[in-house]
Amino acid sequence: MANSPLSAAVSHVGKIRSNNQDSGYAGRHLFVVADGMGGHAGGDVASAIATKRIAEADEAYAAAADAEQALQAAMIAANSLLAETVFEHSELTGMGTTVSGIIRVGDQIALAHIGDSRIYRFRDGELEQVTADHTFVQRLVDSGRITPEEAAVHPRRSVLMRVLGDVDAAPEIDTKILDTKPGDRWLLCSDGLSSYVSEDKIAQILATVRGAQGAADRLVKESLDHGAPDNVTVVLLDIDASEPTGADTPTVGFVGSAAAPLMFEGAESERRPIRLPTLLLHPLKAAPPEDTHFEPEREEFLEQLIEEDRRRARRRRITWLVGLLVVIAAIVTAIVLAYQWTQTHYFIGATDDGRVAIFQGVQQNIGPISLSHVEQTSSVRVDDLPAYQRAQVEATINADDLRDAHDILDRLSRAAESGGSR
Ligand code: CA
Repeated sequence: MANSPLSAAVSHVGKIRSNNQDSGYAGRHLFVVADGMGGHAGGDVASAIATKRIAEADEAYAAAADAEQALQAAMIAANSLLAETVFEHSELTGMGTTVSGIIRVGDQIALAHIGDSRIYRFRDGELEQVTADHTFVQRLVDSGRITPEEAAVHPRRSVLMRVLGDVDAAPEIDTKILDTKPGDRWLLCSDGLSSYVSEDKIAQILATVRGAQGAADRLVKESLDHGAPDNVTVVLLDIDASEPTGADTPTVGFVGSAAAPLMFEGAESERRPIRLPTLLLHPLKAAPPEDTHFEPEREEFLEQLIEEDRRRARRRRITWLVGLLVVIAAIVTAIVLAYQWTQTHYFIGATDDGRVAIFQGVQQNIGPISLSHVEQTSSVRVDDLPAYQRAQVEATINADDLRDAHDILDRLSRAAESGGSR
């Protein structure tokens, strides 16, 4: 925890992990967070090697573009160093690390980033994530296959697409230059913070806790209060009017695994394989939980993941389709039952050509659909009926059933014969 008043770096192993695979660096001009991974092999070694190599770029730069270039070059050099280390120590195969770093040059910030650690700019009460997560789920979100809400709970949300390590000789590193001004707070953090503490909460802490050290401590504590299942690292840089010159910055420091002695130092120059005692690297071999990061992925494994995601999408579609069919079947059944109910009813009325007839169904229509039809036409003409019966027929007469309808028809027939008025 070595810092100037304007910057701070804090790293905590968390409450579940047995070792800290995160590294952090708060320097004079350069600030870095790295989150190492590698199941059986040392993620702690990866983040420490990368952070220490990148820290060599901690210098005053004349222009932000120079700083951006130097930072990117340092990350590529760190990548090569990791590959060389794996070459000499095959037990470290598969190790890798995220790196997010910034260099301040006057009122500009040069930034370089790979992985899912994050850089935020806090300005005027607003917290803005200025890096993109290089994760499998972010790729799915970007391609419109899942929503950000689905990504937050996706079972593969921690699978990384890009890291520094021994997998890729030319890692794809994002770089950019952003402006900064007095009052800005630059937050670099591992996913041990951003996955467990909401951005609203982070913003609230940055808005209220003065001093870089106090705010960084408070952020880490917030993660611990949430159970801190993962290592958590926070590097914070406050921007004030004066740019640190180097001379007046009292301390420069590493935190996390980069703060511990690196067991590989010296091995590189000797260029001979030195087999490190694994126990030294992992004093607690009781399988630390590895639920938040997977090793850098080979293409075939990514294909498996993408296929798995497709299957999940298919299952969602099928579930949705089955639900729709059930609803449609229920509606059709209801319509059929309702229609059948109408067809148990009979009434007496007049046909279009003026004859009295028995109708099956009910008088109502649903739009153009008639719910009744002529069951039996009689020879009785409506015009032959007495006035009262004629009015009744024109208004229709309900019958209890078909037999009742026939009885009514008979009565009307007799009424017509006994001399209807015309
Ligand atoms: Ca992590």
